[in-house]
Amino acid sequence: MLRAVLLGPPGAGKGTQAVRIIEKYNVPHISTGDIFRKNIKEGTELGKKAQEYMNAGQLVPDELVVDLVKDRLLQDDCSNGFLLDGFPRTIFQAEQLDKFLEENGQKMDIVLNFNVKNETLMKRLTGRRICKSCGAGYHIVNIPPKQEGICDKCGGELEQRKDDTEETAANRIKVYDEQTAPLIGYYKESGALADFDGELPLDELFNKIVETIGE
Ligand code: AMP
Repeated sequence: MLRAVLLGPPGAGKGTQAVRIIEKYNVPHISTGDIFRKNIKEGTELGKKAQEYMNAGQLVPDELVVDLVKDRLLQDDCSNGFLLDGFPRTIFQAEQLDKFLEENGQKMDIVLNFNVKNETLMKRLTGRRICKSCGAGYHIVNIPPKQEGICDKCGGELEQRKDDTEETAANRIKVYDEQTAPLIGYYKESGALADFDGELPLDELFNKIVETIGE
């Protein structure tokens, strides 16, 4: 059983560690960003509403996010816990999440907070590439694919996220500092916060996470 949140600025490595954590602890990965991107791809109403905010590097309004996550957490595969990635992103979302968990007799086990310098974040975001077909993540310098532009795992085409351009990435970091960083204090107070150095090599960081959560 693991109920956890990944917290940290865009480019902190949340998605990369998420892949490892969900495999080890056998819980679903719930990324609100992925849910929105899927909706945009499929042309749903939600996707249409979210798109303009995302492309500008702004947060999607709370009312479009909170119910979506609550519905997701009520699904059967969350009975053994979950790993939230990219949610909550505002104090309001965190309060709504706590309320929801309390109503369901649950509580958050841990909030894994990744600290990374802004300069590193910008390099990571603008160099990031994602597979169009399977969603695997790469970085042109740090995690390059064997063949440029092609996914190692499925042979799909790699693309840059629309919001990973220099200007939008910088805006997302600013939005994080203003609206999401206050969650660090919120979760420190609740006792759930665990801090990590997000600049560590991937394996080292993962080992520290496992040490903290427990086997
Ligand atoms: P991410 O993939 O987590 O970087 O999210 C990409 C974008 O989706 C963000 O820049 C926001 O526009 C939107 N988004 C994802 N999660 C949330 C959330 N919890 N609250 C508001 N907007 C979100």
